[in-house]
Amino acid sequence: MKNRFALVKTTLLDYPGRVAATVFLPGCHLRCPYCHNPEFVEPDFKINDDVFNEDIRGFRRFLIRRAGLLGGLAISGGEALLHPLLPEIISLAEEFKLPVKLDTAGLLPDILAPYLESRLLDYVAMDLKTIPGRYHELGWKGTGMKSAELLLSGTMALLAESGISYEIRTTVVPPLVDETVLKNLVPLTTSAPRWVWQPYKPGTTLNPLWSRLAAPDEDELRRISREIETETEIIIR
Ligand code: SF4
Repeated sequence: MKNRFALVKTTLLDYPGRVAATVFLPGCHLRCPYCHNPEFVEPDFKINDDVFNEDIRGFRRFLIRRAGLLGGLAISGGEALLHPLLPEIISLAEEFKLPVKLDTAGLLPDILAPYLESRLLDYVAMDLKTIPGRYHELGWKGTGMKSAELLLSGTMALLAESGISYEIRTTVVPPLVDETVLKNLVPLTTSAPRWVWQPYKPGTTLNPLWSRLAAPDEDELRRISREIETETEIIIR
């Protein structure tokens, strides 16, 4: 049942400053070893009925009942930009006058652009997962001649030009993201208003070998952030 997705009916965590519902759309073109949502990367709809708890008709019924209590809709994944129901979900949010926040890994600027041009998104959180030269470690297979660096920079340029609120997010998970990587990422982030560092938390992961890595020390992250000279606000969240 590939037309099913996950709905979290109320959360304070997914849309900064708003009480939101969150839709998680399955399917992803990356394979981040530390991914905490393996069932959204390689979904098995037969065994995950409890996870994929909604379809578009049920979502509409939910909005009829609850949209008035919500301050927004967060849309996450997987990589939500790849999902065929994304346009319909965004248009339902528009119908019910809910601001939309979209999470993306930032490698699909050509798909993101029309949503930004049509002013259909109110907030975007874009992951910057490591330095572009290491995206192959995340299962990135590339798109034709376009390198990860070109695609990530393209998304960031679109966001900077769009005038909407957005943030860049990096999960800090050594050895993929350590102090050196964070410092090397600075030039890529300078156009963004905010750069959120999310310390990795041990738990279920796509690659089980990554499930018990130690969480990075937040005091260390604060020290690193103080050493970085940038106009971009660095937030440890
Ligand atoms: S963490 Fe990586 S693999 Fe998991 S959903 Fe996000 S982009 Fe896909």
